[in-house]
Amino acid sequence: MVPKLLIDALVEAKRVAALTGAGISAESGIPTFRGQGGLWEGYSVEKVATPEGFEKDPAMVWRFYDERRVNISKAKPNRAHEVLALMENFYDMWVITQNIDGLHSRAGSNNVIELHGNIWRVKCTECGISYYNYEVPLREIPPRCKRCSGLLRPDVVWFGEPVYDMDKAYSIAESCDVMFVIGTSAQVYPAAYIPRVAWSHGAKVVEINPEETPVSSYADFIFREPATKAMDEIYKELLKVFQEE
Ligand code: NAD
Ligand code: ZN
Repeated sequence: MVPKLLIDALVEAKRVAALTGAGISAESGIPTFRGQGGLWEGYSVEKVATPEGFEKDPAMVWRFYDERRVNISKAKPNRAHEVLALMENFYDMWVITQNIDGLHSRAGSNNVIELHGNIWRVKCTECGISYYNYEVPLREIPPRCKRCSGLLRPDVVWFGEPVYDMDKAYSIAESCDVMFVIGTSAQVYPAAYIPRVAWSHGAKVVEINPEETPVSSYADFIFREPATKAMDEIYKELLKVFQEE
C-alpha cells in the first residue's frame, strides 16, 4: 500500500531525487557489501579498496575489479532502476548513487551523480586522463594508459579518498521536494548526510530498505520491502495520478 500522503507529496513535487546504494542492484544479482566480516566477495577491503592496497599489488586489485566487471556486464537493470528512469517523464529527476555499476545509466536515467565513480572508467596514475573502457575480461592486467603507457587504476573512490560531485549532490538535496533513499545502509559518509540535508530543507524522505538504517529514525515514509516491489507499486500510483488528468 502506498500511503495517500506520499501520493499527495508526489503530485505536488517538481524536483525529485533518489539516493541509491548497493541494495538497489541486489535484485540484479550484484552482491551488496556489508555483513561479510570485512570481506568483499572474499577479498579484504583494505587490500582491494584503498590506495595503499593498490600501490602494494595493482595486479591483485585489478583481478578483483575485472571479476566484478565480468559479473556486472552480465547483470541487467531491474524494475527499481527502470522506475527511477521513467520518473524523468514527470519530474526534474536526479539520481545520486554510491554504486559504481553504471546500471542507472543503462536503465535510461540521464541525471546521474556517481559519488563513488564508475567501474567502467579507468584513470591513469601518471598523466591523470580518465576514460571509459568496456573490455571484459581485460586482456592485460594491470591495464596501461593508451596515451602514456602509465599504470591505470579503476576510476572508483576508495576508502580515504574524496567522493565526486558532493557539492552538486548537496545542492540537489537542498532543493528537492521528495527524496527516495533506496538500498543503502547509510553508514558510509559523506553520502549518508545527503538524505538528512534533504529532510532538514523540508523534503519528504522515503526509505526503501528491508532493514532498518539510521535514515529510518527521521524518514517520513518507510517501505520495508525489496526495491523492485516498492518502486513498482509507487510507479503504478503515479501513473494513475498523471494519466487521469
Ligand atoms: P551496503 O552494502 O552497505 O548496504 C546495502 C543496503 O541495501 C542494506 O541496508 C540492505 O538492507 C539493503 N538491501 C539489500 N537488498 C535490498 C533490496 N532488494 N532492496 C532494497 N534494499 C536492499 O551498501 P551501500 O550503502 O551502498 O554502501 C556500500 C559501499 O560499497 C558503497 O560505497 C558502494 O560504492 C560500494 N558497493 C557498490 C556496489 C554496486 O555498485 N552495485 C556493490 C557493493 C558495494
Ligand atoms: Zn596516461
